[in-house]
Amino acid sequence: MTDQYSSPTPPAASNSADWDRAPINWTNMILFTLTPLFALTLVPWYGFTYGYSAYDWMVFILMMGFCGISITAGYHRLWSHKAYKAHPVLRFLFALGGACALQNDVFNWASDHRRHHAFVDNNDKDPYSAGRGFWFSHIGWILRHYPSSSQDFSNIKDLQKDPILQWQHKHYLALVLFMNIAVPAFLGYLGGNIIAGILLGGLLRLVLSQHVTYLINSLAHMWGKQTFSEKSSARDNPVIALLTYGEGYHNYHHTFQWDYRNGIRWWHYDPTKWLIRSCEWVGLTSDLKRVSPLSIETARLEMQYRKATERCDRLKNADTLRARLEEEYEQLKHTLDLWAQHRQQWYAAKSMQIHDQLHEKWEKNALRDSYREVRYQLKIRRQRWRELVQSFSEIPQVTA
Ligand SMILES: [Zn+2]
Ligand SMILES: [Zn+2]
Repeated sequence: MTDQYSSPTPPAASNSADWDRAPINWTNMILFTLTPLFALTLVPWYGFTYGYSAYDWMVFILMMGFCGISITAGYHRLWSHKAYKAHPVLRFLFALGGACALQNDVFNWASDHRRHHAFVDNNDKDPYSAGRGFWFSHIGWILRHYPSSSQDFSNIKDLQKDPILQWQHKHYLALVLFMNIAVPAFLGYLGGNIIAGILLGGLLRLVLSQHVTYLINSLAHMWGKQTFSEKSSARDNPVIALLTYGEGYHNYHHTFQWDYRNGIRWWHYDPTKWLIRSCEWVGLTSDLKRVSPLSIETARLEMQYRKATERCDRLKNADTLRARLEEEYEQLKHTLDLWAQHRQQWYAAKSMQIHDQLHEKWEKNALRDSYREVRYQLKIRRQRWRELVQSFSEIPQVTA
C-alpha cells in the first residue's frame, strides 16, 4: 500500500575524486567529535556521582526548546522561507537561540537552506543532499569543506539588510560562548549548582538539539510518505515531527515551502506552527502565509492518481480499471473545485457584517447550506476513490 512508510531510497550517490579529497574542516571535526564524547561520558558520570535536581532538568528542557524553536521558527520558516513576518523582539530572541544551538549564523544557515531547496537531491549543488547518504546529509557535510557548501551569499541579499542579523553575524562567536557557557552557568548558579547547569543546559542540550535538527536533513529525506510530490526525496513522517518541533512533514514543506505550517491539519504535531500562530494573537508575528486548501488537496489527489495509475497498469484488466480510475478521478476533481468555490463564498459571507434584514440572513443561510452539501458530496467522492484504489490490491497482477 502507498500509505505504508517506504524504506530509505535516496538517489544514488555520485563520488568524484574532488569530494573524497575535500579538506577536513578541523574546527567542526574537533567540535562535533568532542562535544558528543564529553556529553556521553561527563553527563552520566556527574549524574551517578552527584545527581541532578528537577531544576537542572527543567533548565535542560527549557534550553532545548528555546534552541529548537529558534531554528525551526526563526532560521527556517522566518528567515530562509519568509513564511511570515516577526517583531524585532522575536527576531532578536531567535538570533540568540540560533547561536545557542551552534548551527552557524543566519546568513550561512539560510543561504545553505535556500540552496537545499533550489537544488534538492542534486549531489553537486545541494549542500546536504540525501543522495550522498544518511551520514553526509546528517552531519558529514559540515565536517569537510565540500564544494557544495562553499559560502555564497548571493541568495540572501534580503536578509543582509536586517540589522539584527548583521549584528548576529558580526558577534557570532561571542554570542555562541555567551549562550552556551555563561547562560547555562548562570541558570545553574540560580539553582545552586553551576556544573549541573553547564553539563545539562550547556553540553547535553547542545549535542541533542543539534542532532535533532540534523534529522530533518537526513531521516526526513529517507523515511516516510511522499504525500504531495515525488519531485524530491523529502518525506512526511509524524514520528520525525515529534522529535523536530513539527518539521517532520517534510514532503509538504518541500512542495509548499512558503507556508508557515508544516503540519497542515490541526491535529498534526507542529509546535512551531502553534507558536507562530499564538504570537500573531499578541502582535509578535504577522502576514502568515498559507497555501490554499484547493492547491493542497489537488496536489494530494494528483499524487494518489499517479500512484494508482502505476499500480493499475500492472493488474489484469488494466484498461477497464484505468477507465474507472480516470472517471472517478475526474469526478473527484470536479467536486473538489466546487467545494473550493463554495468554501470561499461561505467564508466571505461569514466574515461580512449581517444587519438584521431578512433577505441577508436568508442568503447567508443558503450559502452555508450549499457549502455543507458540497462538503458532504466531497466526503462521499473521497470515500469512493479510497475504496476503488484499495480494491486494486485484491486484483491479481499480470505476470511477465
Ligand atoms: Zn525549508
Ligand atoms: Zn529538505
